Amino acid sequence: MQLNEEIQRRRTFAIISHPDAGKTTLTEKLLLYSGAIDRAGSVKGREGAGHAQSDWMEIEQERGISVTSAAMQFEYQDHVINLLDTPGHQDFSEDTYRALTAADSVVMLLDCAKGVEEQTKKLFRVARERALPIFTFVNKLDRPGREPVELIDEVEELFGLHAVPMTWPIGSGTDFKGVYVRATGQIQVFERTKAGRKARVAGEGGLDDPEIKALLTPAELQQLRDDVELMDHVLPPFDLEEFLAGRQSPLFFGSALNNFGVAEFLEEFLAMAPAPHSRPLKDGGEVAVDAPFTAFVFKVQANMNKAHRDRVAFARIVSGRFERGMDALHVRGAKSIKLNYPHMFFGRDRVIVDEAFPGDILGLINPGMFRIGDVLSAAGPLEFHAVPRFSPEQFVSVRLADPGARKGFLKGVQQIAEEGVVQVFWPRGGAPLPILGAVGRLQFDVLQHRLKTEYACPVIMEPRGFQMARWLQGGWPEPSRFWGELVEDSEGNPAILFENDWQRRTTQEKNPDLTFLDHPQ
Ligand code: GDP
Repeated sequence: MQLNEEIQRRRTFAIISHPDAGKTTLTEKLLLYSGAIDRAGSVKGREGAGHAQSDWMEIEQERGISVTSAAMQFEYQDHVINLLDTPGHQDFSEDTYRALTAADSVVMLLDCAKGVEEQTKKLFRVARERALPIFTFVNKLDRPGREPVELIDEVEELFGLHAVPMTWPIGSGTDFKGVYVRATGQIQVFERTKAGRKARVAGEGGLDDPEIKALLTPAELQQLRDDVELMDHVLPPFDLEEFLAGRQSPLFFGSALNNFGVAEFLEEFLAMAPAPHSRPLKDGGEVAVDAPFTAFVFKVQANMNKAHRDRVAFARIVSGRFERGMDALHVRGAKSIKLNYPHMFFGRDRVIVDEAFPGDILGLINPGMFRIGDVLSAAGPLEFHAVPRFSPEQFVSVRLADPGARKGFLKGVQQIAEEGVVQVFWPRGGAPLPILGAVGRLQFDVLQHRLKTEYACPVIMEPRGFQMARWLQGGWPEPSRFWGELVEDSEGNPAILFENDWQRRTTQEKNPDLTFLDHPQ
């Protein structure tokens, strides 16, 4: 197949949601359609032998959450879909945020009873910063939920995003009858179907069809007529341009658990979601998708496979055809490297790939070479916009169980920090050990576990009362005119850790010449 055909059939996306909205369930159904897995319950290794891949860390099993994250690839109706796995647990939000830098679109998954929740808001902001097109899928329609109009208003008020219904629910909870499909004027009837089967469609003749009259009570039919009237006359019509610009969001209703509305959503998704496209460069200009091979690393992960103790760098291909064994420039290291054993995930299987295309995610075995943001290029040295770091919100000090293990500790912490698990801050004026920061607390548990098992360096962690880090532009504040703790990050950038917003504001007021940034430049 030609390069351009391969690109046009690809869709690379992530699901953003609050924990429990049903992301795992939805992912599982999508994989079932593609045949990438053959039974429910295989994702996240909830049962059976399928979970060997994700048991690289005991924490994951102990807490029953997924801390590994990559991308899964599957095919459906001639399309190749790369679904970026975004850990649902809020403590892993920094990884989740970063996955969005590799996505071309996102699906915002809402629980119909809860609407927009905290984690959804945070993730939405990142998707918006990248101007990603956003689909909205309202889940759990088989349970009582909020009025659809209320959800539409909420999305608009919070995000300034116009949600435009593509389908519309009829009834809710135990009275849920199905969804009205605006494009066809038909009804998808809610019945519990086996995985992979489509819902029954009724009402070829529109709302006056006898089939529909038999299905709905007169009150339900009247309500539906009113709702259709509202959609057609009050809400803006769907506009693909507005969607691609991130201003409109096509809205779908369904129930992932009951496999209702999922296939229909997937088909609409494939038709509307953008294929991989050019990516802007840091110094202006952009890389076109059909340029020679380029890719950037958005995630580094250690020891996914206990037997191998390897580190994997996940790189999103931006342009060109990738072929196994090809040479590419590692731009930061200014060195040409041979890409020999890249792998991808298909469902739960990890396989070596021979070729790959823009939008695909390569897992590169990494002997300590790759960092987040690194670029691989067969098109000469170039840099994409930086993969953002997020300001930590939790901080700890560490003590070593064995004070003689300082060297091993520093090496371990540096390596793990390069993967983006934690951030390292050195108190100004000298200290034997750094303060560590993370977006979520669970990241410290991961660090602690890995220091012990991989670097034989058990540590004791003590929470610190800081709530935020701000990086300084313009030097250090005047002595005795600041609150908080002066630190340098691992690159030597000056920063301050603050215990609260009052400290930050007051320090800013007393040092008007300094600029405070919430991530390093
Ligand atoms: P995640 O945390 O977003 O990955 O959510 P899960 O997929 O693990 O789902 C959370 C809970 O909601 C599980 O108990 C699911 O079985 C349940 N769930 C998911 N989708 C639906 C749905 O459509 N209807 C109902 N009633 N429950 C659902």
